[in-house]
Amino acid sequence: MSASRQIVCPHCAGINRVPADRPAEAALCGRCRAPLFSGKPVDADSAMLDKQVRQGDVPVLVDVWAPWCGPCRMMAPAFEAAAAELEPAVRLVKLNTDAEPEMAARLGIRGIPTMILFSGGREVARVSGAMAASQIAAWARGRLEAVA
Ligand SMILES: [Zn+2]
Repeated sequence: MSASRQIVCPHCAGINRVPADRPAEAALCGRCRAPLFSGKPVDADSAMLDKQVRQGDVPVLVDVWAPWCGPCRMMAPAFEAAAAELEPAVRLVKLNTDAEPEMAARLGIRGIPTMILFSGGREVARVSGAMAASQIAAWARGRLEAVA
């Protein structure tokens, strides 16, 4: 049992070790001093997403979206509300397919919105289509329990 969790800063991608008995939602990045969790999804590029998934101990829920996608824009407030509910147990990230087409291809995205849940550095679940905040939170928790 490790006494600390490795948390990747969503702003500078710095790696922080946060003691397990310290509330992660109150922790600041040791490098840039930004909060490690803000209760809001963070916009990630490919490098940031890779780092969050591979080097962080926190499961990552990615909302794959694009600005031209109506259902994606409709789901944005729900995803934001889900972040407030799920952090700091889960890191919520948004990936814009227009800005990161190579990453979208690597993830095998066929339609958007699609949400992908990563835990332990690998994909554990994905779902397509818009969802309400409570559905997003329940889905993520359920899938994480299934792999725990
Ligand atoms: Zn930082």
